[in-house]
Formats: sequence, structure tokens, C-alpha cells
Amino acid sequence: MINYEKLMWRCLELAKNGEGHTSPNPMVGCVVLDKNNSIISEGYHHKYGESHAERDALLKLTDGSEKDGTLIVNLEPCSHYGKTPPCADLIIERRIKKVVIGCRDNNPKVNGGGIKKLQNAGIEVITGVLEAESRKLNEVFFTDVEQNRLFVALKTATTIDGKIATSTGDSKWITSSESRDYARTLRKKYDAILTSSATVIADNPEMKHKQKIILDTNFKTNFDYKIYQQGDIILVTSENFNNLPLPLPDNVTLLKCKTNNNKIDLNDLTQKLYEMKIKSIFVEAGGKLSGDFIKNVKVDKVYHFVAPKILNDNSGKSCFDGDFIQNISETKCFKTDSVSKIGNDILITYCL
Ligand SMILES: [Zn+2]
Repeated sequence: MINYEKLMWRCLELAKNGEGHTSPNPMVGCVVLDKNNSIISEGYHHKYGESHAERDALLKLTDGSEKDGTLIVNLEPCSHYGKTPPCADLIIERRIKKVVIGCRDNNPKVNGGGIKKLQNAGIEVITGVLEAESRKLNEVFFTDVEQNRLFVALKTATTIDGKIATSTGDSKWITSSESRDYARTLRKKYDAILTSSATVIADNPEMKHKQKIILDTNFKTNFDYKIYQQGDIILVTSENFNNLPLPLPDNVTLLKCKTNNNKIDLNDLTQKLYEMKIKSIFVEAGGKLSGDFIKNVKVDKVYHFVAPKILNDNSGKSCFDGDFIQNISETKCFKTDSVSKIGNDILITYCL
């Protein structure tokens, strides 16, 4: 009996090699077995615009050893012409006998079409092997194709009592260097990182990423801050603000949004970012903006680093600033996704 789950774990591991490079495509990995069930090839989707995982794995085989073999892949093979020809066609052409799939591709262009095409060609198709894990790996992709919206991840780092800084603003450092390094690696999972002018002015962070979004309603920052020195920047201001210094630096694109009480309307913002083909953001900001996100938009995932420190000061700055709430029934509820120890801290991830 072949252990398809074990092979599917391998597909998920291979798929992750493309992390940060495949968007708006999903991360996909593929393993090919010969007719005696020995692994003869592996592949993954390296980068948007390049070969899909199935093609990557099959094109490595030139001796026909895949004939009557099995192909394992974490996402339904595509049946449509995109940047590359359909993988289902190549699988049929290579005379694979059995295809094992993690989860269906609910992208309207596929949506069962790949499975049907394979079955019509007489291929045995097994679906739903590590389905939950396969969907989770591509949670950003599924939010895009099934809900047509931006995926929002948010990071915060606090003391045990939920504070991100003292009342004077001192925040260096609450968490350990291991946590801060880990937080930096999380950034690459997402299309863009987002922060506020308040964070830029207070910390002058560099925040290395290919795409950065800065919320600066009335442009209180300036282009000398480190954050502007690298990557593509989307500078978000109020639609009523007209005093930007022109011309803008080459790497800066202006996005004007509606405001409420002189704060950027986050629903307007997330919709506009999605229209700009940004599929996911990673929010790294102070309590005010993080609190606004929690209150006003769907936050899909929170990465919460907690250091074993207690500030023990009511006037310290909270990770999620908000309004006066009277009842626990009014709280925002999440599901705990995972808990891990990083350095001397813990990382809790919670999701919708
Ligand atoms: Zn494909």
C-alpha cells in the first residue's frame, strides 16, 4: 500500500520552495512515481510565469519511465491555457495512470475541469489527500479566487500584558532578536508589507521588501526616511490631500483613499490594493493602525509574538488600540492556529 499522505507532505514541502515568488499563482509541488511506485521525479512552481509543478516534474523525464505511473500534486492540475499550456494535457500525453490530488482548484477557470479532463482520458483520480493542509498552504490564493478579496496578515510583538511600548514610546526591544529575525522571514510570504507614517517617524525602519505600502494621510513623512530607499512604494494619502512634493521618486506610486476622521478608510484601501493586483498584505504597525485593522476589516491571520515580560503600567501602549467596549460578547474572536517557542518568546498565530 502506497502512503500517499507522505508523498503529499513532500509535495507541500516542494511547493514551499516557491514561497514569495508565485503570486498571484498558488504554491504547488509534484512528485512522479513509475509503474513500480518508485519516485522518479519531483518538481514545483518556481515563479509566476514559469512552468507549473506538474510540467516542471514531467519535463525532467525523457526516458518514458512515467508511463503507467502515478503523479501526486497538492492542487488540481489546470485544464486551461494560461501563461503555459494545460498540465492536464501533459499528464494525459505522458500516459500517467493515476493522479493523486491534495485539493481542488476553485479558480473559476479550473474548478473541477482538470479532474474531469483526466478522468475522461481514463486516468484514475484520487482527491482530498491532506486536503486541509493543501488548502492552508495556499490560503492567500483561495481567499483571492473564492472570496475575491485581499488577504490581510498582521504582526504584533508585545509583553505578557499586551503592550508594545512604554508610555514614552520606548519599544526597543520587547522581543528577542530570534523573534525579530523570524518576523522578517514572515514578510516574504506576502505580496506587500504595510505600515503607518507614525511607525516610520518613530522608528525609521528599513523594512526590506519588494513592495511596501505606507499610510500617510497628510504626508507627514518625507522621502529621506530609510523605508523609501528600497523596493516599490505605494504611498497612501487622503483623497483630499494635495500638497505632495513633486515629482515623486521613481519607486513611489501615489494612492489616494477616502478618509474617516482624518484616518484612511481601510475598506476603501484594501479594495483599491486588490484592484492593483496585490493579493496579500502583512501589516506591521503600532497599536492605532493595528487596532483600526482589527475593528474595520477582515484580518485573516495574526502573528502575535509575546515576550515573557510584564510592563505593569496602564499608560503603556497597547497592541490594539480601540474604543470603549463594555461586554466580552463584543470582542473580536479568532481561532488559535499554532503556538511555538522562538528564542525566549512565544509566537501565537490566530486566524479567522
Ligand atoms: Zn498547470
